[in-house]
Amino acid sequence: MKSALVVGAGFAGLSAALHLARAGISVRVVEAADRPGGRAQAWSSGEYRFDLGPTLVVMTDVLEEALGARHLAELELMRLEPGYEVRWRDGERFAMHSDIALLLAELERFEPGVSARALDYFARVHGAYRDARREVLERDHTLLSFAGLLAHPGRMRPWIAGSLRRFTERSFHRSRLVDAWTFQSLYLGTSPLRAPAMYALLPVVEAIEGIWFAPGGMASIVDAFANAAESLGVAFSYERRVERLERNAAGRWWAYAGAERFEADAVVVAADREPALALLGTPPPRARSPRYGHSALCLYLGVRRRVDLPYHTVFLPDDPWRAYRALDAGMLPDDPLLYVYNPVARDASAAPSDGSALLVLAPVPNLTALRERDLAAFRRRIFERLEGAVGELREFIEVERARGPAEWASELGLMHGAAFGPDHTLDQMGPFRPPMHEKRFPGLVFAGSGTRPGSGVPMVVISGRLAAEHLLRR
Ligand SMILES: Cc1cc2nc3c(=O)[nH]c(=O)nc-3n(C[C@H](O)[C@H](O)[C@H](O)COP(=O)(O)OP(=O)(O)OC[C@H]3O[C@@H](n4cnc5c(N)ncnc54)[C@H](O)[C@@H]3O)c2cc1C
Repeated sequence: MKSALVVGAGFAGLSAALHLARAGISVRVVEAADRPGGRAQAWSSGEYRFDLGPTLVVMTDVLEEALGARHLAELELMRLEPGYEVRWRDGERFAMHSDIALLLAELERFEPGVSARALDYFARVHGAYRDARREVLERDHTLLSFAGLLAHPGRMRPWIAGSLRRFTERSFHRSRLVDAWTFQSLYLGTSPLRAPAMYALLPVVEAIEGIWFAPGGMASIVDAFANAAESLGVAFSYERRVERLERNAAGRWWAYAGAERFEADAVVVAADREPALALLGTPPPRARSPRYGHSALCLYLGVRRRVDLPYHTVFLPDDPWRAYRALDAGMLPDDPLLYVYNPVARDASAAPSDGSALLVLAPVPNLTALRERDLAAFRRRIFERLEGAVGELREFIEVERARGPAEWASELGLMHGAAFGPDHTLDQMGPFRPPMHEKRFPGLVFAGSGTRPGSGVPMVVISGRLAAEHLLRR
């Protein structure tokens, strides 16, 4: 293989391009939008700047592996302390510290005597995370190789398949602590009611390895990836939507975009996997459409008011499990869970000096599941909850944009508007997640959150590397 096309310049595509270019392959990235980033694009309006998608920077070792230590250092990432705050309606707050002494003190404040159980919990879950990284997440298993892994129970800790809630309740007895250490599976679009215990790793990795602040937000990390790729000779063709992919008689791949045709020895399809199958013309034979996870309603608010909130805040409902049940039934919860990103808490350049550029995210069902269409009433509930905590917002709004499941589908081409891709339940993890490659498409490999290992910036960066490695092995 001398040349490769990468369809899509999200983190998965950028990661694949970097790894292929480093191996000496001539790479062209073909992207429908006018810039890189995909879900991680930034958007500016007037004096306000927003990250449209991901904001929590975690697992920086994965970024370092893709970018290289020098480019990562240039990003000047700083560890947030605390990483975020969890807040309840009655004003109680839990600070998710990443300094272990501060974290234990905060846990003790909530539940005296919890420290020993908490330390044991962190050690076990972090150990399982290391196992999962090595044995599952960083490998593209076949059913056979996965069965081999399970045959050696010492290599994977067996409890990871139980219920996340029950597993967490064994270590934390106060219900608010259980709530604060389980909502994170929603990062993957997966209801904490259905999430396997393995996803305890999400907050534990945040606490132990840190949540990081990138000056300029996630967009600066996208730029670092794109610049690093360009410096390795990767060519980018923006505003080119690939409409068809075809393998020609010589065994090379053609990608048609409008009047143009790009050609290469191999292709990484780093667009959402299921819609991308349509580019290949033939309906997938063994197609079992995966079940998709929850989506997100994101409100991007430029408000002419400094909002007194940390960089990241999670507002939990009084009964989050009721909210999760509503979501799982396709409903919009009466009392929504909210995540608020307030970049001016660290980075004044995101808004005017007397303003704030907020991203308010509420989990909502995807388009196949959503039974209620009244997003206006839900928006009102979101504002009531938020304004109850931080004071009037609506009358200060100068810029507002929203992205819900319909926009994730129409603007990003995401299947069923599921912002995080196929659900992350046990039956859709590891070798049970849609495959990265199929025999009938030699020289073509999928990457990104629609395939393995899963959703989230670090996971799709790993996916891009696995895709590149697969092609380089051919
Ligand atoms: C609201 C939200 C919040 C999130 N928060 C976090 C977070 O805090 N931390 C975290 O780690 N992760 C987070 N995530 C998840 C993370 O953003 C995604 O998993 C990741 O960005 C997906 O990257 P990707 O490259 O797989 O796909 P995408 O980013 O969707 O990139 C795919 C690209 O392919 C392009 N494309 C599609 N079809 C074509 C075509 N036919 N021709 C050419 N180009 C095409 C698209 O334009 C797009 O640029 C969040 C996601 C969302 C939606």
